[in-house]
Amino acid sequence: MKRIAVLGATGSIGASTLDIVARHPDRFRVTALAAHRNVTALADLCARFRPELAVIADPACESELRARLTEAGVTCRVAAGPAALIEAAAGTHCDTVVAAIVGAAGLESTLAAARAGKRLLLANKEAIVMAGPLLLAALAEGGGELLPLDSEHNAVFQCLPGGRPNLAAAGVRRILLTASGGPFRGLKASDLVEVTPERACAHPNWRMGRKISVDSATLMNKGLEVIEAHYLFDAPAERIEVVVHPQSIVHSLVEYVDGSVLAQLGNPDMRTAIACALAWPERVEAGVTPLDLLKIARLDFEAPDLATFRCLDLAYRALAAGGTATAILNAANEEAVAAFLDGRLPFLAIPETIERCLAGLGATAAIDLATVLDADLTARRDAQRIIATLSARTHKSAP
Ligand code: NAD
Ligand code: MG
Repeated sequence: MKRIAVLGATGSIGASTLDIVARHPDRFRVTALAAHRNVTALADLCARFRPELAVIADPACESELRARLTEAGVTCRVAAGPAALIEAAAGTHCDTVVAAIVGAAGLESTLAAARAGKRLLLANKEAIVMAGPLLLAALAEGGGELLPLDSEHNAVFQCLPGGRPNLAAAGVRRILLTASGGPFRGLKASDLVEVTPERACAHPNWRMGRKISVDSATLMNKGLEVIEAHYLFDAPAERIEVVVHPQSIVHSLVEYVDGSVLAQLGNPDMRTAIACALAWPERVEAGVTPLDLLKIARLDFEAPDLATFRCLDLAYRALAAGGTATAILNAANEEAVAAFLDGRLPFLAIPETIERCLAGLGATAAIDLATVLDADLTARRDAQRIIATLSARTHKSAP
């Protein structure tokens, strides 16, 4: 029986994870559930899954959660705040942690799970983007393993020989990450001037949280994934390529020196990657509609439009710069996306904010958590200042 903590339980990845867990009560038991502020949703999940620990990240919501759980007759322990998130990730109640908090908010719990030697199922890509070397060191210290939940990295993981092989020795020439291209594939900058959050979040193939949906629309999601692949598979940037594949059926590919190209295919449903990682090396039913190749009939591939979707190139540049540059990239992106979702920043100003932020702040070696958190905080402040300037410019130029 695997004992699982789900961090970010009320989100899209959390829901897909709990769907798999519910299908296999003989294999998986949820022992901790954590969320940000959605008390009603978390209390409902606690009533259904009966964890030992329920964590609400925002301490202001703790008493309401307690009241709801008492009302529902749920007797689990309740805790709140950052230390409680760490306890949910690293406590003795679990052996497996699903790290599915969105953004930098998930960094410390993800690191704590790794350091505690848990089997870490990583969806929280921002954590590895910010602090890849620290996460790898924490994994080595804890002796646990990391299994990627991001569909592309899960596909690459399935196409590589076991573990974290030396790519050159394993005969790997390239890792090819597929990208759907998002809702604005084929459009040019002039078409994107007045894009609304609703349009940006209407992804053609996936239903996801709002932040990652905007990242998919800007192609920053793929940029974050290039950095994620670099750390997960110890792959130099020049061996990681992005290919746009609008159908989202081929989830990624690995090319070997003998000309073999291995790919993982499936319908676009995150439950495949999650079930794979939860049960690995076994396989379990995931409730996913079987792939009907005859119905799909064709698979298309095209080059990404780097001139229109500048975020992908910014991510490659941050990766090349190294040190805290990827933490700065992530922080500036989180601030810019939040401002866009709030209606405070135009869509095309997202890359502009990140570019200015990267240019203005010098990257240093990301030696420890304090350095990374400091880079994150400084970049957020700088991004806020840039966002204020850019939104003032927009309002001035409005008729
Ligand atoms: P979501 O917005 O649907 O859910 C986010 C979860 O994080 C919620 O449970 C929320 O309560 C929690 N959370 C947010 N802020 C928090 C905070 N400050 N403290 C504690 N918890 C907090 O997001 P999602 O789409 O499920 O994505 C989660 C992560 O998985 C992201 O890093 C995303 O990039 C990654 N991911 C998602 C998908 C997908 O299909 N949704 C695919 C690949 C990777
Ligand atoms: Mg992905």
